[in-house]
Amino acid sequence: AKERVLIVGGDAAGMSAAGQIRKLLPDAEITVYERSGYSSYSACGIPYFIAGLVEPETRLVVRTPEEFLQKQNIVVKVRHEVLSLDPDGGTVLVRDLESGREFRDSWDRLLIATGASPAVPPVEGAKAEGIFTLSTLETGIAARRYVDKFRPRHAVVIGGGYIGLEMAEAFACVRGMKVTLLDKSPQVMNTFDADMAELIASAIRGIGTALRLGEGLVGFGTEGGRIRSVITEHGEIETEMVIMGLGVRPNSGLAGDAGLKLSVRDSIFADETMATSRPGIWAAGDCASTTHLMTGKPFWVALGTVANKMGRVAGISMGGGRAAFPGVYGTAMSKHCGLEVARTGLTEREAEENGFRSVSSVIRTKTRAGYYPGAETMHVKLVGEEGSGRLLGGQIVGGQGSAKRVDIIATALAGGMTVNNLLELDLGYAPPFSMAWDPVQIAGRELL
Ligand code: FAD
Repeated sequence: AKERVLIVGGDAAGMSAAGQIRKLLPDAEITVYERSGYSSYSACGIPYFIAGLVEPETRLVVRTPEEFLQKQNIVVKVRHEVLSLDPDGGTVLVRDLESGREFRDSWDRLLIATGASPAVPPVEGAKAEGIFTLSTLETGIAARRYVDKFRPRHAVVIGGGYIGLEMAEAFACVRGMKVTLLDKSPQVMNTFDADMAELIASAIRGIGTALRLGEGLVGFGTEGGRIRSVITEHGEIETEMVIMGLGVRPNSGLAGDAGLKLSVRDSIFADETMATSRPGIWAAGDCASTTHLMTGKPFWVALGTVANKMGRVAGISMGGGRAAFPGVYGTAMSKHCGLEVARTGLTEREAEENGFRSVSSVIRTKTRAGYYPGAETMHVKLVGEEGSGRLLGGQIVGGQGSAKRVDIIATALAGGMTVNNLLELDLGYAPPFSMAWDPVQIAGRELL
């Protein structure tokens, strides 16, 4: 009989894996169950679709179920939800969400790639029309339809993380709406040190987004089932639309109920090959755990780039090949209008929490030669280990061209480089791109 491969979740991790499995197991029957109506979409593109910069939504779909079938003989069943797993019997219970029919399907190899779900606070009115969380393409389409239908003039974005920053940008800088960005924490971007977050906050305020920090959400005021206001610890903000970007949680319920080992933040434990604690079952993407390469500790992060890489490795492992996903440095970036932010490795605070004796430098420079048109301010913070001089991490806040420079730092971390090694790097320079010393190297000089 043909080998049966089942995949739960048909987006970044699931479909990356499916492609690899097809290459290695040309005869296997590969079936993907996807709860939403789309496969292989770019959730990361949702803010730009809601902004109206990308049209129509189908441009965010990398490959449709029909294309998967035609090009790779991979069966993708959308609007099919997997309800439970039976690892002993090697079966899943599936519900066809169109017909309501439930049936069992069997596997020889199973991948769980169920992603993560946005947190919804248990407050009054959270289900009102006009309040959105973003995860699947369908959630993005729903938010976009609301914007097109009601043309709101003001939106409140709750949560000053990556998605919060991008949605505030979509509304304020592209759609010309008034935006209030609310966060209960005293700083935006909690994955940054407070000094860098302060730079981000003042830039956001300068752009015109009303930033309210240290102000917790209490509930929502509604009228006729629609959002009318956001009630906070300090008052009430009238608004016509709300986006909640309060973080996400791994969708590990299926795995947990089936007795698979869970790891940090209840993500599904997966080793370097993306194998779970149960032979024959792999996990990849936002639902799976990984390792933090600076601390060596189990780690969980929900990022598209990581999900794609994990999916690739899971697929190769499932197909009988050899591949490893050793872990992450927590490299991430985002943008709010003209402001770019990025981070990798450990912040000063994280270095301290993990027992490193750290030194740091913060420099202010320009994205290009100061005299060249379009040069913008850029700040770089580098964190290094006292004594050894080993780089521990970096954060960047600045104008156009700033964020992707974090990749230099991420690469240096991967190479175990010291600050001296960083200064020796032969990085490119011409006035339209950089200063004679790259900003990252200027920060390195300051650290010595
Ligand atoms: P998902 O993309 O969540 O896919 C999991 C799929 O599984 C879903 O389609 C879901 O419907 C399905 N599913 C879940 N449970 C079941 C079930 N029981 N049965 C059947 N199907 C099921 N990352 C970045 O790196 N950079 C960015 O700029 C960025 N921007 C983002 C912006 C937004 C608005 C959002 C929402 C996310 C962003 N991300 C970004 C994160 C990135 O989109 C995710 O990390 C990535 O999509 C994870 O891929 P995944 O395959 O693990 O999970």
